[in-house]
Amino acid sequence: MLVELLLTAAALSAAPQEPAQTELPSIPMEAASVLSRAKRTAQHLEPVLVHAEDQAAASEKLAALRAKTGKRPNIVWLLVDDMGYGDPGCYGGGATVGAATPNMDRLAREGLRLTSCYSQNTCTPTRSAILTGRLPVRTGLTRPILAGDRIKRNPWTDELSLPALLGNRGYNTVLCGKWHIGEAEGMRPHDVGFDEYYGYYPAQKELSQAFDKRRYPDLALNPERLEMLERTGASEALIHGVKGGKTEEVAKITSTDDVAEGDRLLKEWTVRKIGELAKSDEPFFLEHAFMKCHADNFASKAFEGKSAGKYPYKDAVVEVDAYIGEIVAALEAAGVLENTFVFVTSDNGPQRDSWPDSGTTPFRGGKGTSWEGGVRVPGIAYWKGMIAPGRESDELFDLMDLFMTSVALADGTNDLPSDRYYDAIDQTSFLLADDGHSNREKVYIWWGKDPMAMRMYEYKIHHRILKTQEAWLNIDMTTVHDVGLAPWLYNLYIDPKEEYTVGHRMNAWLASMGSELRAHAATFRRYPPKNIGL
Ligand code: CA
Repeated sequence: MLVELLLTAAALSAAPQEPAQTELPSIPMEAASVLSRAKRTAQHLEPVLVHAEDQAAASEKLAALRAKTGKRPNIVWLLVDDMGYGDPGCYGGGATVGAATPNMDRLAREGLRLTSCYSQNTCTPTRSAILTGRLPVRTGLTRPILAGDRIKRNPWTDELSLPALLGNRGYNTVLCGKWHIGEAEGMRPHDVGFDEYYGYYPAQKELSQAFDKRRYPDLALNPERLEMLERTGASEALIHGVKGGKTEEVAKITSTDDVAEGDRLLKEWTVRKIGELAKSDEPFFLEHAFMKCHADNFASKAFEGKSAGKYPYKDAVVEVDAYIGEIVAALEAAGVLENTFVFVTSDNGPQRDSWPDSGTTPFRGGKGTSWEGGVRVPGIAYWKGMIAPGRESDELFDLMDLFMTSVALADGTNDLPSDRYYDAIDQTSFLLADDGHSNREKVYIWWGKDPMAMRMYEYKIHHRILKTQEAWLNIDMTTVHDVGLAPWLYNLYIDPKEEYTVGHRMNAWLASMGSELRAHAATFRRYPPKNIGL
């Protein structure tokens, strides 16, 4: 069995192939092991746990709301950059770690707090996965497309993005904030489905490095190097783009003070935009992607020293939390709060490499790893009148599920093509039924093009592992290893920090977990991953 597992790992790790035009190998419809209760309903869809009572309760609530509003619901995602699981107060952080988060805490208290919510391990993979409903390895968007990259094809041309699908269903679609999924024409937010984009293409560090003399003196104080950086074509501007229309630079970043005020400008735009969108006869999808708290953080003037911790990261958390409160207040002021599904989350674990400009996590590892610290993120689902206040659940939720759930809320499930594999699962019934259960049985944890681990129930199996060679240098100083005779299996209920494997000594399910991994591998034989040359 163990040899087979390693073979599976090798097969999965092989370089992605272009789709062959021969007959497609079929994916077994039955469960891969006795451990599984999920049902596969189609070759291209991930198996789901079926909860008929939850589905009925959710349908009833949605029908009642539709009867009242006459519209499909609005969808608002509030995506924080690199915020740790341990940062919000409602996840054990907040005032305890010097940055109170009363707004996130209130939304969690008045909604559903998810404690097993999973992202991908870095920015671009998560951002592409939630907009396509597909694992980054399938779309090829496994890392940021950087200035100077020579990609073979535009990954978006044969993807149906969520904003494109929702747009076809009559939604107005807007992205405000960080993009990080391609800056070239054809890959910008307003090229791939969004009606309108207002934001910065790259991460904060990529904006501040040219001006921060303390941290990057070899660049910021060297005109020749600055000129070289300029020639990479990296964008340092606030961009406003309209689908089929103009793309303009609204303002240039020329100092770290400009970087500091980025999120304030984005929030002001989103608050104004909500007022406009709410007046339309059509529903809207708004993704507000914060620049903070990705390193390097510079506090906005109004927030400097406002956290108890005083560090720039702590001020950034307080600032983001305040803006989350203002954006939700704008929904209420526009009279659309009760018809809007709001989800607050982070795109990956804290970037410990940049400590002390970094968040915290109670788990092992951080951003860039397949350990829980890299991929387990806060997930707060809030919908006034629709999600019962005070709920919390440890059942599994993958941020990709936001894609399928949003598609379902727009009644767009039948618009999905069947020629590609969808990893996302519709979690509407989990979120809306008062005692709802997750429809997801497993979370697969990838690291670029490498499959690393799988979470199922409270168990997590690793068949390749990342070892951090210096404390917290999870990105800049790690090595990747194959496991030995047995995969590393942890029980996260008795060992949430993944410190001591239970392996074959204390667990009955090593073989079954291996079978479940092989079933995942079969989806790639039928639907080969796209190779875009990254
Ligand atoms: Ca990130």
